[in-house]
Amino acid sequence: LQIQGLGNEQLAPGYRQVLVPWAVQGGLNPPVITSAKGAYFQDQHGQSYLDLTSGYVAVSLGHGHPKVVKAIQAQAERLCWTASSYFNDVRAEYAELLQTISPWPEGLRVHFACGGGEANDDAIKIARLVTRRTKVLTAYRSYHGSTLGSSALTGVDRWRDPIPAPAGFAKFVAPNPYRSPFHTEDPQVEAARALDHLRMVLSHEGAQNVAAILMEPVTGSSGVVLYPDGYLEGVRQLCDEHGILLVFDEIMTGFGRCAAPFAAQRVGVAPDMISFAKGASASYTPLGGVLVRERVARHFDTHLFDVGHTHAGHVLAVAGGLAALKVYLEEGLFERARQVEQWLDHGLRQLQERHPVIGDVRGLGAHFGIELVKDRASKEPLVQWHHPDGSAPMRTLYTELLKRGVHAYGRYNVMIVAPPLTIERHELDVGLQALDEALAVVESRL
Ligand code: PLP
Repeated sequence: LQIQGLGNEQLAPGYRQVLVPWAVQGGLNPPVITSAKGAYFQDQHGQSYLDLTSGYVAVSLGHGHPKVVKAIQAQAERLCWTASSYFNDVRAEYAELLQTISPWPEGLRVHFACGGGEANDDAIKIARLVTRRTKVLTAYRSYHGSTLGSSALTGVDRWRDPIPAPAGFAKFVAPNPYRSPFHTEDPQVEAARALDHLRMVLSHEGAQNVAAILMEPVTGSSGVVLYPDGYLEGVRQLCDEHGILLVFDEIMTGFGRCAAPFAAQRVGVAPDMISFAKGASASYTPLGGVLVRERVARHFDTHLFDVGHTHAGHVLAVAGGLAALKVYLEEGLFERARQVEQWLDHGLRQLQERHPVIGDVRGLGAHFGIELVKDRASKEPLVQWHHPDGSAPMRTLYTELLKRGVHAYGRYNVMIVAPPLTIERHELDVGLQALDEALAVVESRL
């Protein structure tokens, strides 16, 4: 397969004018995507690509699900937008359904935003308004978005540099079983060491100043890191001890990605708020928001809820989320993700046996990462974390995949494997076969 972009020198009018996020603009020549169906999208020449990462780990229903498309069409004809100061039937129906999948028996309230970064910004505000404290703590190895607030939360330096973070953000080191400074063979001890460190950060920052600890319960873009047993429970306990709100950023992990409605249920820890986006509407409409457990939300019965946006609760966006959630539930996709987990776990571990470059395979649900290394014994990363020029072998991997009609992405030395929850076994096998071949090319060039 020839990847045919537009040729950077002769870009057609319009294409040059669109700034491509997270990229140096010169020399870009990706395919032009014009349509999509199921787990595949197509370029302007009709070439199909299997999407091994559900877009940005979000198109969890695959593309073009007829029920979601019809619901959006019908809503567009009836009402696209009304002020968030009015009540609306679609928002109410969605909120009620969200309550049925939440980790809180006491109930919840929902605040809407247009995407993940905005949702995290709002979660920070809500935590500050409720606690009257200012500081927010996040993990160094984390990705929370690219708005000013959410990039201040984000721990990967590249996203914050050279824009200085606003005041009030502090970081801690969370455990990473594959290459953790807290490592021991016993996950309980590893969790305890990491919690000692967090306790120390809290005491240096002044726990009484900390409004929230905000974490991805399983990290996403920063390498699909699963915490050792007991760690998140310990974070929950520390929050309770100090009156700090625990916020889970479930923008990537929510809505079945981890084979549960939210990763919170999968890891067995209930936070105080959950920020969501991506899979909520499966990217059919730009929807995000914050779920606030009832006992926290109640604060705003007597205090100003000083957060809002013109498009907060955009009815068309919410209709996309409502239709998507109904499909997840009707088609049992949160449970189906367990099946995908078995396929991925088995398939990726088989690849690990064949390819020494795969240092680690980890994940749950339809949310996996493969960490690539130069040497399994030393675990030296295939490309350096944070190194701007170090990504050549990873570029080779993604290009070789694309040449074989498969799309994937990742960050630094970790490739994400997160297909739609609807993917069929034979489609996944095509993707794993292409990955097998692409890894062989990467290894041959080392
Ligand atoms: N939080 C997490 C965990 C994410 O993975 C992302 C996006 O990748 C975001 C926040 C930001 O969401 P958005 O790109 O919708 O602003």
